[in-house]
Amino acid sequence: MHDNSALIRARIRRFVSERITPSLYRISSPLTISAWEVPDEPVPFSEAQGQDFTPFSIGQHWGKPWGTTWFHITGLVPSDWSRFHDLHTRTEVIVDLGFLSGQAGFQAEGLVFTAQGQIVKAVEPFNNYVPLIAQPGESVDIYIEAASNPDVGSDWGFQPTLMGDKATAGIEPIYRLRRMDVALLDIQVWKLDRDVWTLFGLMEQLSPDLPRTAEILRALEKMTDHMDPEDVSGTASRGRALLAPLLAQPAYASAHRVIAVGHAHIDSAWLWPVRETIRKCARTFSNVLHLMDEDPDFIFACSSAQQYSWMKQHYPELFERIRTRALEGRFVPVGGMWVESDTNMPSGESLARQLLAGKAFFMQEFGIEPLEIWLPDSFGYTAAFPQIVTAAGSKYFLTQKISWNETNTMPHHTFSWEGIDGTQVFTHFPPVDTYNSQLSGEELARAQRQYSEKGASNVSLVPFGFGDGGGGPNREMLAAAERTRSLEGSPTVRMASPRAFFEEAEATYANPPVWSGELYLEFHRGTYTSQSRTKSGNRRSEHLLREAELWASTAYFYAGTDYPYERLAAAWQVVLLNQFHDILPGSSIAWVHQVAEAAYETVRIDLEDLIATSVAALASSAQTDATPVSFNASPFPVAGVPALSAAPRIPTGAVRLHQADGGFVLENDVVRASIDARGLLISLVDRVSGREAVPAGQAGNVLQLFRDTPTQWDAWDIDEHYDRNGVELLEAEEVKVLVQSAGLVTVRVTRRFRGSSVQQDLTVLGDQPSLDIVTTVDWHERQKLLKLAFALDVHADRAASEIQFGHIYRPTHVNTSWDAARFETCAHRWVFVGEPGFGIAIANNSTYGHDISRATRVGGGTTTIVRESLLRAPTFPDPDADQGVHTLRTSISLTPDVLGAAAQGYRINLPLRDVVGAAVTPVVVSECPSIVVEAVKLAEDRSGDLIVRLYEASGSRSTGTVSFGFTVSEIVETDLLERTVAPVAVQSRTDAGGQLVLRAFQIITLRVARSAAEGEGSLRHHS
Ligand SMILES: [Zn+2]
Repeated sequence: MHDNSALIRARIRRFVSERITPSLYRISSPLTISAWEVPDEPVPFSEAQGQDFTPFSIGQHWGKPWGTTWFHITGLVPSDWSRFHDLHTRTEVIVDLGFLSGQAGFQAEGLVFTAQGQIVKAVEPFNNYVPLIAQPGESVDIYIEAASNPDVGSDWGFQPTLMGDKATAGIEPIYRLRRMDVALLDIQVWKLDRDVWTLFGLMEQLSPDLPRTAEILRALEKMTDHMDPEDVSGTASRGRALLAPLLAQPAYASAHRVIAVGHAHIDSAWLWPVRETIRKCARTFSNVLHLMDEDPDFIFACSSAQQYSWMKQHYPELFERIRTRALEGRFVPVGGMWVESDTNMPSGESLARQLLAGKAFFMQEFGIEPLEIWLPDSFGYTAAFPQIVTAAGSKYFLTQKISWNETNTMPHHTFSWEGIDGTQVFTHFPPVDTYNSQLSGEELARAQRQYSEKGASNVSLVPFGFGDGGGGPNREMLAAAERTRSLEGSPTVRMASPRAFFEEAEATYANPPVWSGELYLEFHRGTYTSQSRTKSGNRRSEHLLREAELWASTAYFYAGTDYPYERLAAAWQVVLLNQFHDILPGSSIAWVHQVAEAAYETVRIDLEDLIATSVAALASSAQTDATPVSFNASPFPVAGVPALSAAPRIPTGAVRLHQADGGFVLENDVVRASIDARGLLISLVDRVSGREAVPAGQAGNVLQLFRDTPTQWDAWDIDEHYDRNGVELLEAEEVKVLVQSAGLVTVRVTRRFRGSSVQQDLTVLGDQPSLDIVTTVDWHERQKLLKLAFALDVHADRAASEIQFGHIYRPTHVNTSWDAARFETCAHRWVFVGEPGFGIAIANNSTYGHDISRATRVGGGTTTIVRESLLRAPTFPDPDADQGVHTLRTSISLTPDVLGAAAQGYRINLPLRDVVGAAVTPVVVSECPSIVVEAVKLAEDRSGDLIVRLYEASGSRSTGTVSFGFTVSEIVETDLLERTVAPVAVQSRTDAGGQLVLRAFQIITLRVARSAAEGEGSLRHHS
């Protein structure tokens, strides 16, 4: 046979686009349209319905950026359409708001209401119909709340745009109404269209030498021959009959098994503000509920308790419909977190609370505990996560983001992921490499082709549905799932829940490979630095929450005050929401970051008030002479004030100041720091050993300014080439002594560069082995990266970086492509480089981005270079990102080990609070320095029990007693959700506490009940 397959393919494509697609609707008829534009922010249906709607017509422009226009659509289903009634048809209203060619969720969308205010479904690209129950001759009366959201991403050219802020986006209409009419869907034609789409898509993936490929091609050709192009409707059944045998051929016995999970990745904020996300959720979820009414097999997984909570608050009727489907097991809560958070930057306690708050919501509302962590899109995954997941009672982990790696390909798709403490969690990366699948032949083939566990396991998960901006699955995707259930040449597709997938995957894969350590994303490395104010808001809020809970708990036990459950929960919810994977990473539009910063400020004010109230109650609780005391919320002593207590500071040693070579030498009993005339740190000496930390001729506290022009994804990415174009900001306008007292000396350095200026206050305190640096930058650069560099005379093959509940070691060399790709990394409060017995900690109060590298000096010796990434200024999606004044704290300390680094990290993030009043003993004392108290709070069940979370911080087995400031009646170990678990760490118990043995990096949560006899009298709390 002559090979004419290319010609046939082209012929079929044209037949579909020119004949079948235009025949999907049998007939249509215009409707009457009127519109009312909301003056500013959205209003509910009840308010919109009574407004003065004015006539509107097809072709008219509508919708300023971020505006809302309500359309009222009325008319009749033509009575003569009854002549089509013997045909297989459905009556629908077709809406085209002026949709752009791009993705659903990144442009205009609408939510459809009945005249009675009930939500029907959404209209958006690829899902633009409204089902009608009206018969011929009956009336149509619907409302559409149309959102004129601008397409901020546009063509992904990453050009600066003013569209990301209502204040700068302008008021010119950006859409033109294209269609709103009533039409009859020809169901046979629609089914034929789906048959062809599936078969053609499959054929394109199959090898041309397979009989199956040719068989599909010839059947499609035959369909084209036998159908009448002028009567597609009348001959669709004939076409389908020719394709039916092809669709009936069962899958190969060895076909890859796909478990298809309906999904809509809805970013809780990104190229739209949170308020729009709430409406996006309503639109997407109403689409899902509508499809569930149509297809009993359809299962939809949705993460983020926050999004359900928004529905409960803003769309209660929709929420009840969701609840019904959730209880049926079809609208499936997954993930168990409050939002799909970033996992690089949130603190250990924050990730614990993501799971605590998220699961508590799902269990309370639905009685369902999700056991799968569902983070398809976050930008890399902390090595602390396996233990956190397990400690929250979860079993499984899912992401696909690591497939975005620029350099290395992850070797596994289904594996055990092992964290820093050795805990393993069963993990799956969908090999389809998307969370927005349409179940196309191409996607299904890719899942099968790429799946790297072949031969050992043969099942993968495919999340399908439009995502990012929402939309979710549509009826075409369900049709694809139906046709690929068992189809020769295709993977088999079964719609099921994530839990069903994980149980099958786990049961059929006895010894999955192990990946140990972080799942570092070799991409989006700028997200540790972009939008510095959002990051400092997160860091500050996390520490204020720690303090607020600690002092409120302490005051509850010692002063009998009420515990502010509601206010703390509300503050946590704000912090948890803003840890969403496009907010904290700094990759959102200006509007999102403005709202986040304002929310952090509200949280700050509220928590400061809570802290002040607790501190005042504690300071006045004892009948003693009022003296100055300091409250220390750190788990380490600071200035002689014990951990978690209030006490007078112990007078510190003196700080001496000398002038030398135009610079200054600042010296206490433990360190001597030399600042030269340029304001650089040219020497830092351990006065006990005499050891110098700065290599001769090099310096610390060096500000470096780099060109920062990533190839794409500006706010997200720092590209490796940044390092080739940088300057050191060595010239100081002024270096002067700012403060000189017995207990501290501060030198101020002022620099100007380009349009910006920097002021640095360098301080040596009497009692710290540190130079503290407060850097205030008035930043007016664009596409620049500002780093603060320290050259260190220390021989380190690896560097420790603080992560959640511990630290991770990363090599300082670049032996492998994996090491080389890790050229910018995330650390929390500190990084540490050291030799046995000597080391240097660089701590910070709001910086996450770091890089740590090494160089060999002429004449021998290695220099370790630690750099903090202080600021960026990407121009997309926020053209003014990071402009203005920023204050960032850093300290460089000499300390022999990571515990010393940890102490510095807490000190710099938790300044002492000075008040006049009584000393306060700690409500909990951990006598072992490496067993660190991370959270002190009252139990969520409001029993008045104390909850204390501790972790082993040194990376070795640690033993020590923990004691409490009251008589203990019971200590139990719990999970992160405060549910009792079998004891593993508490070895013995006394009235005052117990003996703990923790393995390296182990997290434990203790629930401690106070003896009733002691509690009476002072025990008061809400119930
Ligand atoms: Zn996302």
